[in-house]
Amino acid sequence: MNLRRPARRYPSRMGISHEALPSRISPPSRISKEALFNLPAPPETRPRFRSHRAAAMTESVIREMSRVAHRYKAINLAQGFPDFEAPEEIKAAACEAINRNINQYPITWGAKPFRDAIAAKYKRHYDLDFDPEREVTVCCGATECMIATMMAILDPGDEVVAFEPFYENYGPDSIFCGAKLNLVKLHSRTLPGGEGPEWTFDPDELRQAFSPRTKAIILNTPNNPTGRVFTRRELESIAALCQEFDALAITDEIYEHIIFDGAVHIPIMTLPGMRDRTVLISSLSKTYTVTGWRVGWALASPDLTDSIRKIHDFLTVAAAAPLQAGGVTALSMPAEFYAGIAREYQKKRDLMLGALTGAGFRCYRPEGAYYIMTDISGFGFPDDLTFTAHMAERAGVVGVPGSCFFKDPASGAQNVRFCFCKKYETLEAARDRLRKLSV
Ligand code: GLN
Repeated sequence: MNLRRPARRYPSRMGISHEALPSRISPPSRISKEALFNLPAPPETRPRFRSHRAAAMTESVIREMSRVAHRYKAINLAQGFPDFEAPEEIKAAACEAINRNINQYPITWGAKPFRDAIAAKYKRHYDLDFDPEREVTVCCGATECMIATMMAILDPGDEVVAFEPFYENYGPDSIFCGAKLNLVKLHSRTLPGGEGPEWTFDPDELRQAFSPRTKAIILNTPNNPTGRVFTRRELESIAALCQEFDALAITDEIYEHIIFDGAVHIPIMTLPGMRDRTVLISSLSKTYTVTGWRVGWALASPDLTDSIRKIHDFLTVAAAAPLQAGGVTALSMPAEFYAGIAREYQKKRDLMLGALTGAGFRCYRPEGAYYIMTDISGFGFPDDLTFTAHMAERAGVVGVPGSCFFKDPASGAQNVRFCFCKKYETLEAARDRLRKLSV
């Protein structure tokens, strides 16, 4: 591999190309990711047929790394999806639905039994009451829920707040709406006593990100990529600002059941004054090991739901009918199922923390979700992309270059994210391979 090839195109690190970024952020001159990873060059575009929207975003780096892993025949610890099986009873319920001829459009905002099952689960787990007729919208994954919600709420020129580092989809989601994304840093710091770093925000910086134009804050807890599970106190300070600035919380809670060391997931919607100020988004994907099913839901007061349902209907009409039937079985799993996944993922987290630390990474210890954000500065590489390419080639393991979680790529240039939602044997093989990095 020739690392000296000149840049053909500077890649976005967050799904937003640099044309869309403030001019003070100048692209560092370094090798393009296509050259680094031997990816095909992007096609020449015809400006007449390329919208500003399309021009303002690029490929998802997370999804691209799955293709890189395939190309290098590497272990894919990049895009967060399990390599083990979904629970038998959930698969059987979906197969059975197809055989029962549940093969036509469901009601656009979700099949009635599935919406009922969603409402029942939220009552059981969080004592939240939702009217399945007026407050539940089923979409194609949390991804569509987020786009539909933001398009339902935001107009061009509106502002939306999010924490950084952040899941890369939120950048393009803001572009879809023409909204401005105001980012608030989650600062990583080592806790007194040396028990490891955590990521948290400065309440004053959060306040500065709000303005009269702020319509919403995107809140992802348990958090991807940092693994933070926000505390009640942090949520209270967010809720207070939502109320002061008349803004909504749009939450991404898809890792709600993947929590460690006794951490508790608190939906901000359960806080005083937030019931009608929150759109709560979650999905089947992560909890039930069915990321390819693309079934998620958005829960909100009737007025918000009314707008979300319209956008959702014209975007996709409906999520897959037989998979919603499978979802009824999923959402009725007993309490032990949820305790079991948290326990299993905690063991996998610990295995992977050991593997990465042993290989020379500095790890941020996650409290939830199934990612470990690492600091690669000990390896002495100029940036995360160069390091990730080296790791794919030398060790046969792929992670996500950390810069894609930041607006300014320089902020994540010494970070790489690894997922640990894999079989033990996959994680053990990755551990063995990663040893090659320090030899
Ligand atoms: N949430 C997953 C990740 O961060 C990926 C989700 C997706 O690719 N749609 O890796």
